[in-house]
Amino acid sequence: MSVEPGDSGLPLFDAHCHLYDANLLPVLDWDSNQSGLPLIGAHVINGTHPDDWGLIADYPGLGESRPLRAFGVHPWRVDDLPDNWEQQLHQYLSKGAVSVGEIGLDNWITPRDESLQREVFMRQMVIAVELGLPPSIHCVRAYGALLDCLRSGPVPKGGFLAHGFGGSKEVLFEFLDMGGYFSFSSYGSHPGRKRIRDAVRACPVDRLLIETDAPDMVPPEDVCQFPLISQSGERLHHPAELLTAYQRVAEWKGMKVDELAQQIEENFRRLFGHLESF
Ligand SMILES: [Zn+2]
Repeated sequence: MSVEPGDSGLPLFDAHCHLYDANLLPVLDWDSNQSGLPLIGAHVINGTHPDDWGLIADYPGLGESRPLRAFGVHPWRVDDLPDNWEQQLHQYLSKGAVSVGEIGLDNWITPRDESLQREVFMRQMVIAVELGLPPSIHCVRAYGALLDCLRSGPVPKGGFLAHGFGGSKEVLFEFLDMGGYFSFSSYGSHPGRKRIRDAVRACPVDRLLIETDAPDMVPPEDVCQFPLISQSGERLHHPAELLTAYQRVAEWKGMKVDELAQQIEENFRRLFGHLESF
């Protein structure tokens, strides 16, 4: 049996989450002395709109974990942006952010303005290149359009993160050639999400990252080790399920958890760690 991270002292790294979320904060009680909680080295906390960038800038961190900050406009939030959003984004990113996120394209949400999503995405990719920061990219049912954008526009030299990747293996290979990294959570344990598990298996280990997207993308109840319910009764993704994600991804990949944990830390530092040490 492999040594579990946390028990062996290996820290875990969450490549994408939203820990400032208003549903999560009132119900999340994180006491580092509580047994069973994993040791988390760092979280990359992503924004969705200028409305939440201030919350991220002020977020104090969770336990021993280092809060690393990403600011960006999510494709669901492109239609009510203030005129100076790019200027604000520049200012927030310039204060030690490690990523531009969460940005992307989404052809699932209705109603939507696809050309506006694309325009806001491309403008943020230009900013990411200018500042030398990797973007954290959301994509749902829009992989063709995203490939077009990545082929026609600038992509940061250090690469980009396809967060919560749910595309085909063919798309995965195209993204790899463009410098893509891929992050996965235990959401892929849902029986109908075989494509996610196939993508994990196809992803080279040096481009693999792990995330929770907490409090969203809740894994199935039978794999949850840290069940969490919001004040309004919805199931939330507990940030400690990062441990579950490491365990599931290791299983899908046929690796030992501690071997995976070492590789993930290396990948995480390569993608996000060029600005500062953590
Ligand atoms: Zn997200």
